[in-house]
Amino acid sequence: MKKLTYLSDEVESLKGELLRLTSQLIRTRSENPPGDTSDVADVVEDHLKSIGLNTKRVEPIRKHVNVIAEMGSGDHGLILCGHIDTVPIGDIDRWSFNPFSGEVIEGRILGRGATDMKGGVAGILTAVEALTKFEAKLNRKITIALFCDEETGGHYGALWMVKNQLIKGREMIIGESSNYHKVGHVIIAGERGLLWSKLRFSGIPHHGSRPMLGKNAIMHAVKALSKLKSPILAKVNVPYEAMKLVKEGKKTLMESYRDKRHLKPHYAIDHYTLNVGVGKGGTKANIVADTFEVDLDLRIPIGGSRAEAERIIESIAREGEINYINYAPPSFTPTGSYLVRVLRKVSRSVFREKTPAICIAATTDAHYLRSVLDIPVVSYGPGYEEKCHVYDEYVDIIDVLGCVKVYAQTALILSS
Ligand SMILES: [Zn+2]
Repeated sequence: MKKLTYLSDEVESLKGELLRLTSQLIRTRSENPPGDTSDVADVVEDHLKSIGLNTKRVEPIRKHVNVIAEMGSGDHGLILCGHIDTVPIGDIDRWSFNPFSGEVIEGRILGRGATDMKGGVAGILTAVEALTKFEAKLNRKITIALFCDEETGGHYGALWMVKNQLIKGREMIIGESSNYHKVGHVIIAGERGLLWSKLRFSGIPHHGSRPMLGKNAIMHAVKALSKLKSPILAKVNVPYEAMKLVKEGKKTLMESYRDKRHLKPHYAIDHYTLNVGVGKGGTKANIVADTFEVDLDLRIPIGGSRAEAERIIESIAREGEINYINYAPPSFTPTGSYLVRVLRKVSRSVFREKTPAICIAATTDAHYLRSVLDIPVVSYGPGYEEKCHVYDEYVDIIDVLGCVKVYAQTALILSS
C-alpha cells in the first residue's frame, strides 16, 4: 500500500511535465489521413529515451511509424498501448481555438487529439516515467506500444505489429478515452462485432414515360428495406461470463441518453442492429433505374454469430445480390479476469467512482488484439467519449492526471 502512495506522489510531482508533454504531442501534427506519424514518434521516443528506456521504431511504410519500448525484467507482463495518429481537424473555421496550440486553459488541455488520444499517450508515458523509480520492484516487463494508423483501420499499426509478433505480453490496457459525462470512468472490456454488406438490386431500364414496361431497381430496394420495421433486430442469449458487462453497458447507455430512453438506446448492446448507410443508383429521372446499391452495417451482439447475421441480411435482400465487405466478431474480456479486477479497484480508489466494466455498442481493434494475442484486453483512459473526432476537442487535466495514477498503480500491482 505504501509504495502505491509513493507512486501517486511521484505522479503528482510530474504534473507540470505531463501538461508540457500533452501540449507538445498536440502541437506535433499527426492527422490521418495522410497518417504521417514520424514527427510525433520523435517526441515519444525522445521522452522514452530521456527516462532511460531503449526504443524501437517500426515503419512498415514510409512515415507511418510505430514506437515500442520495454521496462523492467522478467517475462512480458502488461502492455500499455495507444495510438499516436489523430483524425483530421476538418474545417478550421469551426474551431473556436487553434487545434494545434495545445493550450492549457481553465483546467483543460485543448486541441486535436487531446481526447483521442494524445492525453492518453502522455498519460502512459508519464506513468512509465513515474515507474522508473520502482523498476527494481518490477518482476515482469512492461511494454509501451504506440501505434500509427488507428484512425484508418490499423493496417500498418496495431494489426501489423501483432501479425508480425512484435508485441508480447500477458495483458493489455489501451489508453483510449473511457469517461462518460453522466456515469464517470468505465472499463471497456467487451464490444459488439459487425458485418458490413453491399446489396445490389437489378432492374430493367426503360423510357421513364412508360415505367410499367421496365423493372425499377430502386423500387425493389425500397420494398426490401421496408421489411425493416426498426433498426433494432433480434436479441440474443448472452453467455454467462459476459452478462455483467452487458448489463453495465446497457446501464451506461441508458444513463448517457437519459432524455432519449424511449428510443431504447440500451438495445444497442444486446441486440443486433442495422444501419442503412449508403444508397445509390439510377441514371436519370426519365430512365427506369437499372441498378441500386445499398451499404448496410449490421452489428452483432456478444452471443450472436456471423451465421445469424448473414441469415438476417439474406432475409432482407432475397432478390438482391449480397457482397460481404467487412466482418469483425463480437469479443470480450471477462469481468472476473485479474486485469479487470485490479484496474477497477485502482480506478475506484483514484477517482472515487464505481468504475464498472462494460460492453460497448461499437467495434474497435480490441477484438483483433484479443483473438490474436489471446490475452485480456481492455480500454481505459482520460477524456469523454463524446469529445472524440469533434470540433473544440479538449481533455480535463484532472482526468489525465488521475489516469496516470491508475496506469502506474495498476502496472505496479500487475508486475510485482
Ligand atoms: Zn482513438
